[in-house]
Amino acid sequence: MKLYNTLTKQIEDFIPHNPKQVTMYTCGPTVYHYAHIGNLRTYIFEDVLEKNLEYLGYDVKRVMNITDVGHMTSDADTGEDKMLKGAKRENKTVWEIAEIYTKAFFEDTEKLNIRKPLIVEKASDHIDQYIKIISKLLEKGYAYIANGNVYFDISKVTNYYQLSEKNKEELIIGAREDVELDVHKRNPHDFGLWFTSSKFENQIMQWDSPWGRGYPGWHIECSGIALKFLGEYLDIHCGGVDNIFPHHTNEIAQSESYLGHKWCKYWCHGEHLNNASEKMSKSKGEFLTLSLLEQKGYKPLTYRFFCLQSHYRKQLVFSYEGLDIASQSYNKLLNKVNNIKKSAEGEINKEQVFKYQELFKEALRDDLNTSNALTILYDVIKDEELNNNTKLYLIADFDSVLSLDLLKEKEEKIEEELINYINGMIEKRNKAKQEKNYKEADRIREELKEKGIIIKDTKEGTIFEINK
Ligand code: AMP
Ligand code: ZN
Repeated sequence: MKLYNTLTKQIEDFIPHNPKQVTMYTCGPTVYHYAHIGNLRTYIFEDVLEKNLEYLGYDVKRVMNITDVGHMTSDADTGEDKMLKGAKRENKTVWEIAEIYTKAFFEDTEKLNIRKPLIVEKASDHIDQYIKIISKLLEKGYAYIANGNVYFDISKVTNYYQLSEKNKEELIIGAREDVELDVHKRNPHDFGLWFTSSKFENQIMQWDSPWGRGYPGWHIECSGIALKFLGEYLDIHCGGVDNIFPHHTNEIAQSESYLGHKWCKYWCHGEHLNNASEKMSKSKGEFLTLSLLEQKGYKPLTYRFFCLQSHYRKQLVFSYEGLDIASQSYNKLLNKVNNIKKSAEGEINKEQVFKYQELFKEALRDDLNTSNALTILYDVIKDEELNNNTKLYLIADFDSVLSLDLLKEKEEKIEEELINYINGMIEKRNKAKQEKNYKEADRIREELKEKGIIIKDTKEGTIFEINK
């Protein structure tokens, strides 16, 4: 398997520390609000990576945290506390907010066939572990206390900027209006390991520590949980590209200083999903959640299919037009598989199975090329030399990684979605006609025709026929 490693900026052969078991850590959600579909793109990528490793024969031990404490609105430890912000917004306690949005997160991921990691740990459950690490960092001289907070001194590590590959000046903080620089820090990029109550007076999540009552910084929780559950040598650490700096950069600095040796070998980052004009956000523009897509009539797995069509390291622009196209392709794919299912026959051809499995693996081994993997799936479906049972065997096999419910979907469901789509288009066309926009009305009719859907205006209204 070849994987792009953000640390070395190269595609590398994947060789785990222990050939029998891969250890994988993935940064979990900050549970102060619903996940947006951009966040979910990252979790889809991580899910495919995990399942692909299993498909290639590895046993994977995966851990994910739930950030219920410590994450500020600025990644640089400044600004407002995200959980407090959520609690204020909804007039609930931070604990209630954490519970509501953790539940919502797993509901979303389940709908997207994202498997829940083997170990999921709440950040607030491991305070002792953070205290242990911070104490050692202080002891070793990597951390210092200033203004009641414990900071990590980045000047004590060499290569601090290796992961981000940016120079210090480019990354300097303080440019944003809502971010105030802590004048007590020795270096602007020194980051908080422990904050005492002096920082947020109304912070409810607080614990006793040798440095006073307070709470941990965001970065220490991931290092703490990863070290506790996956040991001193980690194979893969994942997240979205925004995690590279400062979050993962800081995780490396503190974990390696604590351990006294190299910690994680492969750093894998998923590119962002963006809106056409701006960064995806929970506060600006349309708050794109999976539930919103469902309300608009899209199946959650259509979104998974949409993501798999492009490479995880390429930025993806979200648009409803793009999702419509993905929806049509996905439904067509399900229909094709259904037709194969209806006439299942023949003995499974082992040679062909092996040949196609190798091609499928080849695509995924190539830095997780899911769009090429989908092409192999289409090749199987098209191959006239293959009998239907061989095809079905391969489809089920590939779906253990793709997780598109290719064999589970019932025909009625597909029909229902198609009918919803047509009715929506008819509605749009009627609106265009009312507005005397006949050009648009004709365009909609043509678009449907191209898909084999013929519409007719009758006295009872518009009716349609589907030419299969
Ligand atoms: P958060 O809940 O903010 O901690 O983010 C959860 C995950 O989503 C992290 O791994 C982020 O790197 C990732 N992420 C944030 N924004 C986007 C985006 N627009 N597209 C893809 N992933 C994102
Ligand atoms: Zn993390």
